[in-house]
Amino acid sequence: MRKCSVKTKITIWITLLMFILSALLIAFTLAIGNAVILRTSREQLIRTLRSSAAQVRLQDGRVNTDEGFQFYRSGVSTLVYSSKESLLAGQLPVSFAGVEGFEKGVIRTAKGEQAEYLVLDLWVASGWEDGVWLRGLLEVPDSRQIAYSFLQVAAVALPVFLLLAALGGYRIVRRAFRPLDAINATASAISEAKDLSRRIGLPPGRDEFSSLAQVFDQLFARLEHSFEAEKQFTADASHELRTPVSIIKGACEYAEKYDETPEERQETIAMIARQADKMSSLIDQLLRMTRLDQGTESARMETVDLSALVEELLREQRRPPERLSAAVQPGVTVCGDAALLARLAGNLVDNAFKYGKPDGHVWVSVAADGEEAQLCVRDDGIGISREQQDKIWQRFYQVDPARSGETQGAGLGLSMVRQIAQLHGGHMTLESVPGIGSSFVLHLPLAEKGGADAAAVGE
Ligand code: ADP
Repeated sequence: MRKCSVKTKITIWITLLMFILSALLIAFTLAIGNAVILRTSREQLIRTLRSSAAQVRLQDGRVNTDEGFQFYRSGVSTLVYSSKESLLAGQLPVSFAGVEGFEKGVIRTAKGEQAEYLVLDLWVASGWEDGVWLRGLLEVPDSRQIAYSFLQVAAVALPVFLLLAALGGYRIVRRAFRPLDAINATASAISEAKDLSRRIGLPPGRDEFSSLAQVFDQLFARLEHSFEAEKQFTADASHELRTPVSIIKGACEYAEKYDETPEERQETIAMIARQADKMSSLIDQLLRMTRLDQGTESARMETVDLSALVEELLREQRRPPERLSAAVQPGVTVCGDAALLARLAGNLVDNAFKYGKPDGHVWVSVAADGEEAQLCVRDDGIGISREQQDKIWQRFYQVDPARSGETQGAGLGLSMVRQIAQLHGGHMTLESVPGIGSSFVLHLPLAEKGGADAAAVGE
């Protein structure tokens, strides 16, 4: 039994319950049926004999009956006896053996040769002293015979009924367990084939299994997401770290093989240091992006004064004032994570200088436009061609790696910018013309007044 499936156990339980119920029902029916038959027979005897008594009279020593009087009616044989107990009219049933004496109004049972009889005597008086005895005899249906017939029917019907109950029960249980089977099959397929993209995909329902399936699907989605992020991180890190590592290795081998002058050695050390810096910043950026992806670095959402944040950032930048102009509308607030938004703005400003002309200009503005806040970083630099404009948001994509390489770029900045914008429910737009310049705009929903206050109170 322990090894049986839950479905089989429930089916066996239902069938067993049905069997017990049916057995109880049969026993109850037999017991009640017997009592009911006896009671009905007694009532029938009383009713019939009483009505017969109303139709019988003793007149001048003779028994007279009304027209239509029947000695045998409704299963009751009526016999008329004189006061001296001699039979005057009526016929005794063949198998009836007789009964001792007469008792007024008392129902007795008397054994016949083949059957049992109910016997009732009534006294029909005529004058003060005379009268006749009216005896009613009713053959009681044989309860054992009835029980036997009933059990014979039950012996055929019960197995059929139990079989139907078992089949029906099993079908219902199987249907109820179908979502669980689907969960089981999908989970096994995922574990065997290591295919995290599979989902149970049950339509939403109100039962426990449907919500369990939903929870499992969410779990699989999270697992897949984490797994993909980890895979991406490993691939990205190994791919991008290979270059600086091989440069460092090459430089070391060269320094070992060839006698270098102190100046050359100094240059090699400086180059190794630059590559190490590059690796460290790369690992740092990758980790941040992976944490954002996985949700381990969760955004601390609060009301942020975007205007103040950008002004502070520009002050820290320490760029020559003739190369940087700012037009910041005060008090533009958004709901977001201040550190992430500062990272986003810093990236855009760095890029604007990095890909600008040597003495080019950068314009930064913050403004509220309708329902949204806009942060715009514009430069008059090299610009980006139409074909490249969609690609620059991808991880590790660089239009001109030689140019980015000089400045320790790895093609991760804009990908992180877009990720942060999306995390805040916003998006990025770009307008750029090669040779003229680029304009990157962050669009974010403005913090609602009530929401902002609530967020501030919640802190
Ligand atoms: P990185 O600067 O490290 O190369 P980013 O993701 O920040 O990586 O940028 C991706 C690419 O987009 C850069 O390599 C560069 O070619 C291009 N790009 C970014 N900002 C600008 C800009 N302001 N003007 C021109 N090109 C840009």
